[in-house]
Amino acid sequence: MNEYGDNHEKTFPALPPAPGRGFAHTWWGHAWLRALEDSALDREQVKAGRRYARSGAVGAVSVRPGGLTAVVRDRDGTAHRTDVLVQEFTEAEWDRLLGLAAAESGYIAALLDREVPPELAEDAAAAGVELLPGIGELDPRCDCDEWDHCPHSAALCYQVARLLDRDPFVLLLLRGRGERELVAELEARSAAEAPESEEAPADAGIPAADAYAAAAALPPLPPPPGLPEAPGQPPTLDTETDSEAELDVDAVEFLAQAAANEAHRLLALALAPGHADRAPTAPLTTAEDAVRLTAEASDFRVRSRLAVATGRDRAAMDLAVRAWGFGGPPALAALEDDWAPDRATLARARAALAAAWADERAPVLRRLRARWSEADADRQLRLGREGRWWPYRREAARWIPAGPSAPDPASAWSALDT
Ligand SMILES: [Zn+2]
Repeated sequence: MNEYGDNHEKTFPALPPAPGRGFAHTWWGHAWLRALEDSALDREQVKAGRRYARSGAVGAVSVRPGGLTAVVRDRDGTAHRTDVLVQEFTEAEWDRLLGLAAAESGYIAALLDREVPPELAEDAAAAGVELLPGIGELDPRCDCDEWDHCPHSAALCYQVARLLDRDPFVLLLLRGRGERELVAELEARSAAEAPESEEAPADAGIPAADAYAAAAALPPLPPPPGLPEAPGQPPTLDTETDSEAELDVDAVEFLAQAAANEAHRLLALALAPGHADRAPTAPLTTAEDAVRLTAEASDFRVRSRLAVATGRDRAAMDLAVRAWGFGGPPALAALEDDWAPDRATLARARAALAAAWADERAPVLRRLRARWSEADADRQLRLGREGRWWPYRREAARWIPAGPSAPDPASAWSALDT
């Protein structure tokens, strides 16, 4: 079948360790890694794989149509045979891709220069041929018996991103055809397509006026996309280098994810029915936003940094997060804003307190500014500037938010009945 002899397998020697280097510098290398990073269920496995690849744990990589194989060594020396399978193109797909590539002399020249023109990938995609694997299309097999990507298969993918950067024909071999066969086929096709007379040079273009007029005939824009099921996942940024610049990579990753979460939440709000009728909410202050972020953060170091940056110790930040969970900015204000109501506000508050327990025994409360505490006991009501009542309970000499707010004192107090 294969008269060129390079169709079946090509082996690349192991690459030296690459401390601190990125794995993909080309757009196609990035796209390859995105297919790995976006589809792996466990990002820790992907990170571990990158460390493996960087430390030189991946042996020689064998590339053949439909798959990659390498031996990857654990730190203790245990060797794992790992494979990553990639779908081969069908004959019909190859025919379309080669037809496209042969029609533009620039495409062939670029490929021979070890470049993949983005336009070639776009033209191919428009013809239904995806040059680069998408999400879930790097299919791992490893003798460590992980069913999703494991550090070994992820390491192999990272290593291959380095190979792809240097030589995009690696990708085409995975898709089913070797370089020599491809180049011969492209040359044959482009010779057949070359214009035979001088009447219609291929790059004559069209008059500017025609091009301008054609712009008016563009199809309408597609409808905007709906709400994605989940917030997007930013790429991992961990490069394993000692941070020379004082950049906390975990913090940047956390912020990118938090921004994606917030964008998703805001889009959901904007697309929800009745959105246009709702009053706009005030943007959060930096101090409020730090508490919101801390409430989302699971990483201890990120939480600590946010606490320090906002001048709180850990206990104070824990309290702020607890308050935040009961109602966002006004709940946080009830915790930290020890304000003094004016006369009119006080009069309204007293009236509300007097009316609250009309039929029952009212607690005996003593006021300090906007806080009413039960005498010699551990329960308290706080009046917020927004006019709602917040229940608080004293534990270990500190006042702890005990529940969401209520418009009247008795309802808020009921959160304190144990
Ligand atoms: Zn494995």
